Amino acid sequence: MLKNRLSALLKALSNGCPRCGHRPIARLTGFATTCPNCQLVLDRGNGFLLSAIPISYAIFVLFWLIPLMVAWILKQVSYPVAFGLVAFGAIFWPLVLYNYCKMMSLSLYYFFMAHELESTESATR
Ligand SMILES: [Zn+2]
Repeated sequence: MLKNRLSALLKALSNGCPRCGHRPIARLTGFATTCPNCQLVLDRGNGFLLSAIPISYAIFVLFWLIPLMVAWILKQVSYPVAFGLVAFGAIFWPLVLYNYCKMMSLSLYYFFMAHELESTESATR
């Protein structure tokens, strides 16, 4: 069972369907709501992938805000430059990363709910 969970996690983290591995699911401008290969419903709507928002926020804070803040504290960049880069990054990075963060959210979901992959797979046969 752990092997199935890790397999679904790795497939989704590599931008593939958690069940069959077909990729790409997430693109820069779009996200497939069902897998084109095995018809697994990836986005069930009504906030199913809402955890992508805190994931993209955490990535922004860890890899953009904190390094810029440290650079400003160490006087490597001026305040207007640091503030401008933070403001730019606050809009740019979530826009670029949001669909991939949905895949991270999906990987976590199917890591803990791996039995749903099997049950929906047997239901479609
Ligand atoms: Zn699939």
